[in-house]
Amino acid sequence: MTEQANARVALVTGSTSGIGLEISKSLAENGWIVALHGKGNPIQVQAALDATNARAKFPVRHFDADMRDPQETRRLVRGIQETYGSLDLLVNNAGIQHIDRIESFSPESWDDVLAINLSAVFHATRAALPAMQAKGYGRIVNIASVHGLVASQEKAAYVAAKHGVVGLTKATALENAKAGITCNAICPGWVLTPLVEAQIALRMERSNSGRDEVVSSMLSEKEPTCRFTTTDQVAGAVRFLVSSAADNITGVSLAMDGGWTAQ
Ligand code: NAD
Repeated sequence: MTEQANARVALVTGSTSGIGLEISKSLAENGWIVALHGKGNPIQVQAALDATNARAKFPVRHFDADMRDPQETRRLVRGIQETYGSLDLLVNNAGIQHIDRIESFSPESWDDVLAINLSAVFHATRAALPAMQAKGYGRIVNIASVHGLVASQEKAAYVAAKHGVVGLTKATALENAKAGITCNAICPGWVLTPLVEAQIALRMERSNSGRDEVVSSMLSEKEPTCRFTTTDQVAGAVRFLVSSAADNITGVSLAMDGGWTAQ
């Protein structure tokens, strides 16, 4: 058998950007075969591929699927199983945000946030589980959020979806506790990615303040450490959850939030 035939295979959804891209680079560097996935124009997708391939032991490919569509999500998982013969690690990371009060929250945005941030986690997990169960090995890491544990105003869909992900994580863990499969969630606080940059821009516009002032108030409002969690730290937590040290950890939600939820 070649070295590649022995390597474990990971799908990181939403890995053309931000947290997912960093997780992919870190897994690829650590000997995983990584399937990149996510939206983006051809230049962005190529940049994500180049950045991941630069650190990878095995060639990295990009797979396309709009996760608002359950059929596309199932096709994505099946495509990876067929391409590589296995899917050992599913990192459900793709996500979007929409900011508004409930009374003016657009129903279309509610549907999109719920579809991508919660239902796609169900559809991808459902598609991945049978082969993991047959193999007697699987790791599922759901990138939830501190908003899976507590709420903030103007984020109703995101908060509802992420609380759902935390619940789904526990249900997946329990149903597969004896199957060699673990399922855990990571719940970051603020991480400086395009998703948060959009929120910084919105706050700058609303408050007519500079970037430094807005960032400082965002952090001090929520995180006692007054520091962002880094994409690299989230990737490190994923590596821990797939290491043998975490073999008996399942159904947990790991807060990486600078003390946000300790208050
Ligand atoms: P990001 O915007 O940088 O990346 C989001 C990824 O999701 C991109 O690859 C994008 O292409 C993909 N995506 C979006 N819509 C999609 C769709 N319809 N179909 C397929 N893929 C789609 O954001 P990020 O901050 O890296 O967020 C990654 C995850 O981390 C999300 O689930 C987010 O909720 C979670 N999270 C982020 C933060 C933070 O502060 N940035 C904090 C806690 C949790």
